[in-house]
Formats: sequence, structure tokens, C-alpha cells
Amino acid sequence: MHFALTEEQAAIQETALSFAKERIAPYADEWDERKHFPVDVIRETAQLGMGAIYVPAEKGGSGLTRLDGALIFEALAYGCPAISAYISIHNMVAWMVGRYGTEEQIAAWMPKLASMEWLSSYCLTEPGAGSDAANISTRAERQGDYYILNGTKQFISGAGVSDFYFVFARTGGEGAHGISAFVVFKDTPGLSFGANERKMGWNAQPTAQVIMENVKVPAFHLVGGVEGQGFKFAMSGLDGGRINIGACSLGPAWAALDKAREYMFQRKAFGRNIADFQALQFKIADMATDLEAARLMIYRAADALDRADPQASMYSAMAKRYATDLGFEIVNQALQIHGGYGYLRDYGLEKLVRDLRVHQILEGTNEIMRVVISRKVLGGNRG
Ligand SMILES: Cc1cc2nc3c(=O)[nH]c(=O)nc-3n(C[C@H](O)[C@H](O)[C@H](O)COP(=O)(O)OP(=O)(O)OC[C@H]3O[C@@H](n4cnc5c(N)ncnc54)[C@H](O)[C@@H]3O)c2cc1C
Repeated sequence: MHFALTEEQAAIQETALSFAKERIAPYADEWDERKHFPVDVIRETAQLGMGAIYVPAEKGGSGLTRLDGALIFEALAYGCPAISAYISIHNMVAWMVGRYGTEEQIAAWMPKLASMEWLSSYCLTEPGAGSDAANISTRAERQGDYYILNGTKQFISGAGVSDFYFVFARTGGEGAHGISAFVVFKDTPGLSFGANERKMGWNAQPTAQVIMENVKVPAFHLVGGVEGQGFKFAMSGLDGGRINIGACSLGPAWAALDKAREYMFQRKAFGRNIADFQALQFKIADMATDLEAARLMIYRAADALDRADPQASMYSAMAKRYATDLGFEIVNQALQIHGGYGYLRDYGLEKLVRDLRVHQILEGTNEIMRVVISRKVLGGNRG
């Protein structure tokens, strides 16, 4: 067991961190305030190989590992979690195309996904089916060489801006086995979008409904060319997605810890630097320890997925739950160390608290992570 990054991993981390510090962090507060989605900056990451990170090179991706991916998302999130998280969702879609698409689909779609000429969205959640994702009601009916899609997807990251929508729809009966996956392009007649949701955080990327009214797509857009496989694609995509969203909580916790440390040597109270107070020294010690523990869990889960460990889903769920809970707690404590100033927008901490709150909810809520973990620990025979 090795607990140090290889030279190559350290270089990947350094590249992503430099990009985050130069191209993301200086603008992140402004993007949040203006609700601006910086697609130009996002597309720049493709030039660094971050458009299809863990898609094999022979399929048109960067051929890196899940662990490399986690390092990248952690580092990008040091600059802004909302931007890193969107890039992670795009990568989840690119991976599903690479893993489950037919040769012809990969040839047709991967080049523009990897270059981010096409930005993508993952469309699973519906107004009536969130945690209970196997219960979706969007339907796809076969008509000759086409499918006709009808239904509404809720809370879709990137909706209205993304070009490539990876949509889960029901082609068969009830339950997981009746679900298939389709690709729908933005300009398809019948596809429309709801208003951009007004959110607590993640303001640097849009979230909206994706509405399908008699959307006609060629049968070629059925991912993998077979019906009934969609739920499997969705869940295996999420195993990686959960690691990535956990990594997106590590970066901001790291940034917040850096900010809090710096502030403790600047701010004086009772005639001393606040760094002199043991209560705050202990707080910093706990934050650093929690960050390290969360980081180890994310890296370990990513490694398990790379090795196709049969327990990888459980490790992903554990790491997602832990890193998103602890990441939120760390940025909140960093805000506390800043006193009243932490509550002001200028210090950048309240944004991190607002941004990280949603990581405990999406890609499966942290309650659902406990469902996944307890199923593994207790076996399949409970209600
Ligand atoms: C900003 C944002 C971006 C998002 N982006 C996307 C996206 O790009 N694509 C996408 O498909 N989805 C996206 N989502 C949707 C997200 O994944 C869902 O919100 C999430 O899965 C929870 O579903 P729900 O909101 O319907 O909550 P519900 O499923 O209604 O859950 C309500 C509460 O009940 C709890 N609960 C439910 N079932 C159980 C159970 N069995 N045991 C214990 N507790 C339970 C939940 O944990 C939660 O606390 C996004 C959401 C947000 C807020």
C-alpha cells in the first residue's frame, strides 16, 4: 500500500491546481454573484485533457485513472466547487458513452465530448422521482427507426446551455429493468428548458428542468444499442460521480483551511493574534485531520473503482457521505474563525458554505449513501 502520489499524479494535481488558482479562483465570487456560467473557461480545461479524463485513450479519452480524476476535481474545486462539479458531471457522461456506447456511437460522439465542443448534462432526476430513481416516468416509444421521448427532468445541471443530454427514459415496464438511455441534442425539436432555478449556491452553473414533448431521436441514439440497460449505466456512472463530488468538497475545504490559517495570523483580539488561542488552534487541528481523513477515503474509493473492486460502490458511497459532510463542516468552521467577516461576501467563505451544502444532497443524498452502505454491510434481506 502506497500513501504518496506518484510523480505523474503530483504533476496532474499541480496542473489542475495552477489552472484553478489562475483561471478560476480570481473570478469565482463574481461568477457566483452574476450567476455567470463560464463556458469559455470550462472549455479551456479540455485542452489540459480534462474533457474525458478516465475514458481510455483508444476510445478518444485521456486514459487517466479515477484517482487522477479525483485529484483533478479536488484541485479545480480549490478554485470553485460549482465549476469543478459541472466538469465532473460532463466527465461522468463522457465515461458512460465510452463505457457503454457502441463503437459507432463512440466514434460519432467522443471527439466532441473530449474536446468539450459539446458540453453535456446527466438527466436522471424527475419531479416525481429523485432518490427513488428507478421510478422515473419519462417514456421513449419506438417508432420505426426513431424513438419519441416525452417527460420532464428536474434539477439538471447545465440545462439550457449543454449541447449533449444523456437522458434516462422508460422503454419497458415498471422498475429498473424498463429503463434505457438516450442521447438528445440541444437543438432537437420538442426539447425545451425550464427557468434557471434560484439556488442557495452553485450559482456559477445553471440548474433547470429539461422538458421533452414528442422529442424524436434516431434509434442510433439509444446508448449501447439495447433497451433495458439504462439504470445500470446510471448507477455505475454515479459510483464515479460520487467520488468526484466528494473530491469537489475536498478542494474548498483545503482552500478554506488555507484562508483560516492566514487570517489567524492577521486578526488580533485581546491584544494577541487569534492564532494564539488554543480553542482556535484545536479547531484548525480538527479541520486538518478531518480533511486528511476525507481525502484518504476519496482516494481509496477511486482506487477501488480503478481496480474494479466488488466493494467499490460501497466505498464510493462511504467516501461521498464522509467527504461532503466533513467538507461542509470544515468550510463552516473556517467561516467561524473569520468571525463577522466570514459572513461577508468579500471573504469568499459564505460562498463555499452555500456551494458545499448541495453536495450532501445530489448524486444521491447522504441518507441514500447510508442505504447503499447498510445494504452491503447487512446483506440484502432487510426492508
Ligand atoms: C443544484 C442541484 C443540481 C442537481 N443536478 C442534477 C443533475 O445534473 N442530474 C440529475 O439527474 N439530478 C440532479 N440533481 C438532483 C438530485 O440528485 C436530487 O435532488 C437528489 O437525488 C434527491 O432527490 P429529491 O430532491 O427528489 O429528494 P427526495 O428523493 O424527495 O428525498 C427527500 C428526503 O427524503 C430522504 N429519503 C428519500 N428516500 C429515502 C430512504 N429510502 N431512506 C432515507 N431517507 C430517504 C432524502 O435523503 C431527502 O432527505 C440536482 C439537484 C440539485 C439541488
